[in-house]
Amino acid sequence: MRTAWHIFTIFGIEIKIDSSWIFIFAFVTWALAGHYFPSQYSHWPPWQHWIVGLITSLLLFASVLAHELTHSLVARSRGEEVRSITLFLFGGVAEISDEPETPGKEFIIALVGPVSSLIIGAIFFGVWHGMRGINEPIAAMARYLSFINVILAVFNMIPGFPLDGGRVLRSIVWKVTGNLKRATRIASVTGQVVAFLLIFFGISQLLRGFFFNGLWIALIGWFIHSAAVRGYRQVLLKEVLNDVRAQDLMDTAFETIDGLISVQALIDDHILRKKERSFLVTEGGGLAGIVCLEDVKAVPPDKRADTEIREIMTPQNKLAAVSPETDGNQILAKLASGKIHQVPVIQGGKIKGLVCRADILDFIHLHSKRGI
Ligand SMILES: [Zn+2]
Repeated sequence: MRTAWHIFTIFGIEIKIDSSWIFIFAFVTWALAGHYFPSQYSHWPPWQHWIVGLITSLLLFASVLAHELTHSLVARSRGEEVRSITLFLFGGVAEISDEPETPGKEFIIALVGPVSSLIIGAIFFGVWHGMRGINEPIAAMARYLSFINVILAVFNMIPGFPLDGGRVLRSIVWKVTGNLKRATRIASVTGQVVAFLLIFFGISQLLRGFFFNGLWIALIGWFIHSAAVRGYRQVLLKEVLNDVRAQDLMDTAFETIDGLISVQALIDDHILRKKERSFLVTEGGGLAGIVCLEDVKAVPPDKRADTEIREIMTPQNKLAAVSPETDGNQILAKLASGKIHQVPVIQGGKIKGLVCRADILDFIHLHSKRGI
């Protein structure tokens, strides 16, 4: 997990900054105060370059935040849950709870971001126009911010998933074909093609001696490429888990064991000999909890003889039961929210089977091997 600091909360949405943001903020401020403003306004004293550079840098990130907030607020008005916004190296990421469930929703949520950047750009353009000849520093800031917000809008409209433009493209293909997976693949491949073009262009610039611009463009290309690949994988995983039910994943041949036996005894008598991997634990005749192979593996070998099963099991009061019809995504969410390794599958008041996290991981592994 990367480090991200909470800065404030607005409209009930937590705003965080990623640690990488500090570097980019320092870099942008330095590029503005040390290069851009001195080249345009050489008659200013150096301290003025730095003050104007710092304020411009802050306003630039306020612009990025406004872009992300627009996505978030529109998503929320369409019934999506928005937890937080994290500003990081290349902009921001709004953590919207789920993939939108209709193409129309995705289209509008994605499109409003670049539109907001264009509007902000237009506002700064107006400020520049009004302040020219009245206040040079303010006009200078507004001119740069107007330009950079338009760049931001254009960059985000690159048609590669998961950039905004890629989401817009995906929603259109999704609408036309009715197939989210196919739409995501197309948008992701487009993103990878654009990324390779950027990397190629960046490297050619680098070789021609434009070291700085070349490196920058290649880095952005690399970033888009990894985002496109990752975004596609996440969608595939979701699809795969959506199609599988608890009854397909569950272990029905589970055995009932006593909570007072040692971990070592369980390994010797059940796991090694009978290849069993999930167990119902009883104490005094009643259900006490569940234990899986994963819990057993977590106990260091030298402690296994002295540790009782009831110490490592998921106790009954923490168990979150599911039905045979519950899908893979819901089970994973239950495991994650309860920080547990296993759930019992209950039907008609009876335990029909047990699903361990390892069962889900095995299933994903099997599917990824088949080339999905
Ligand atoms: Zn955006």
